[in-house]
Amino acid sequence: MLDTDFFRRWMAATAAAVDREASRLTELDAAIGDADHGGNMRRGFHAVTAVLDRESPAGPGAVLTTAGRQLISTVGGASGPLYGTLLRRTGKALGEAREVSTADLAEAFGEGVAAVAQLGGAQPGDKTMLDALLPASEKLRSSLTAARDAALAGAEATVPLRARKGRASYLGERSIGHQDPGATSAALLMEALAEAATTSGGGGA
Ligand code: ADP
Ligand code: MG
Repeated sequence: MLDTDFFRRWMAATAAAVDREASRLTELDAAIGDADHGGNMRRGFHAVTAVLDRESPAGPGAVLTTAGRQLISTVGGASGPLYGTLLRRTGKALGEAREVSTADLAEAFGEGVAAVAQLGGAQPGDKTMLDALLPASEKLRSSLTAARDAALAGAEATVPLRARKGRASYLGERSIGHQDPGATSAALLMEALAEAATTSGGGGA
């Protein structure tokens, strides 16, 4: 079962991953956007770890709704409201339970991804974060590592696509040949999820 501490480790591992990969995310965004994706993600997830330390929300659902709310209020770019909605909706779907199963998380995450699609209006293949999030969500029911692998493959598969949403869509054909920054950060989020399962909680049962 996945407890509050697991969800805190997920958010902390995401913050560490976006710190580590910030310059790569910004380079990808420089190619087809406005070169702020690394900074946006970094600022957002630093604020997330800070608010989780401050408020210590109890329960998996509360960790994610708190994180999502913080992303929405901290990140000005398109990715803030989109990732914020993903985490908030997933957290809401998890509800008040103190522990959840991987199947519960898979179902809730599916609702979160659907909310991202609704908010951003993107379809699969539009070269956005959804191209990593959707395949990850489909694989989450089998395992966290399968979800991670699907997200990584989905992000890589955005390279030959033409962007149809967000800033990159202004480039038209010139967006082809570059990996989407948001799909790349979505793969980091899923890598962090798999990583959270391998690190010890250290907080007893
Ligand atoms: P901004 O585009 O405002 O500068 P970021 O650079 O932080 O914001 O994030 C850009 C990423 O957001 C894109 O690479 C893409 O994956 C994602 N994105 C942008 N618009 C949408 C959308 N409508 N639906 C889904 N994802 C989107
Ligand atoms: Mg940008």
